Amino acid sequence: MLFQPPLPPKYSALTEEEMGQAILERKRVLGSRLVILGHHYQQDEVIRFADFTGDSLKLSQIGAQQKDAEFIVFCGVHFMAESADILTDDRVKVILPDLSAGCSMADMAEIEQVEEAWDFLTDACPEPRRDCGVTVIPITYVNSAASIKAFCGGHGGACCTSSNARKVLEWAFTQGGKVMFLPDQHLGRNTAYGMGIPLDRMVIYDPKLPRGGLTAPIRTPSASAGPKPSDRNVRDAKVILWKGHCSVHGLFTEAQCDEIRRLDPECRILVHPECKWEVVQKADLAGSTEFIIRTVREAPPGSKWAIGTEIHLINRLVHEHPEQSIRSLAGIQCLCTTMYRIDMKHLLWCLDELVAGRVVNQIHVDPQTKRLALVALQRMLANVNPQPVAIK
Ligand code: SF4
Repeated sequence: MLFQPPLPPKYSALTEEEMGQAILERKRVLGSRLVILGHHYQQDEVIRFADFTGDSLKLSQIGAQQKDAEFIVFCGVHFMAESADILTDDRVKVILPDLSAGCSMADMAEIEQVEEAWDFLTDACPEPRRDCGVTVIPITYVNSAASIKAFCGGHGGACCTSSNARKVLEWAFTQGGKVMFLPDQHLGRNTAYGMGIPLDRMVIYDPKLPRGGLTAPIRTPSASAGPKPSDRNVRDAKVILWKGHCSVHGLFTEAQCDEIRRLDPECRILVHPECKWEVVQKADLAGSTEFIIRTVREAPPGSKWAIGTEIHLINRLVHEHPEQSIRSLAGIQCLCTTMYRIDMKHLLWCLDELVAGRVVNQIHVDPQTKRLALVALQRMLANVNPQPVAIK
């Protein structure tokens, strides 16, 4: 996680109303040079200043379309700001109002760990592949660092979102025999299972364990006895799931689904595919953030929903759809605490600096990483339908 220095004390002395007026004034001064992007999980006090709202990739694409924009202030988390920098030209400066707004899932896959895993997997699965000599195709969820996206772009792989993971996996299996799915094991498992791949053809690669905790033989003279039979053997696997997860969606449980069923059998359970496989199996519907929003928007009045996703989005749906009964699947507040670090104070501070001619908290991806990450993103965009579809 990057370090955010404390703000000057004057920002703590301002009331919410004063900060709101000041933010609007700075937006007026900067005009079309500035675009503020707000992720769906962002708190209301910040998202009300966004020019556009959406999920991470949609926002980055929107940012790239703003031809007059010199500054994109991304009210999201670090990997989202990186994606915006990757997709925009060098003229545009992308700013994250609080540098400590990271993503616990993205942090679970570091480039050195992925390179080590790759060496192990390509050694363990040596069958030739047409264009680069390996059978494993690396696919990364966009919720990952730019370095991981670049790794995938440079090794014949691609990015995916929770809206298009299935399409990207279908493409990947036309390219090679196995997929290494990073960094969210749950999105990978839920998607592959929905495609008909049984759980026993998926293995977990744990970067904290030697050789990921897998049992594939290494091709050395001493391994001449051949592979040892094992249900965790990487050779048998179709999908190698990186051991990462979202700390927010990981809070939803099977017991919560059972409790909803007991309390109100008419209530439908709608969850994000970053939830555990067991939760997705108990849900009525599972799909991306955009899928969740669209499903609720299109539901008839009187519909009842228990939703498994971040609480700010659920609260917004409650507010926007008073004709429906909407609640969180969990009794506890499932909050993205890192995104929550972006508050009005930090937003105002970075706008003040821009008005004064200073760019603070710029997120800059180096050119080589940017080039390869763009390859991974473009492979994804070339192979998917932009409409969000259900995982289940
Ligand atoms: S909700 Fe989960 S995946 Fe999304 S930014 Fe927060 S920690 Fe990361």
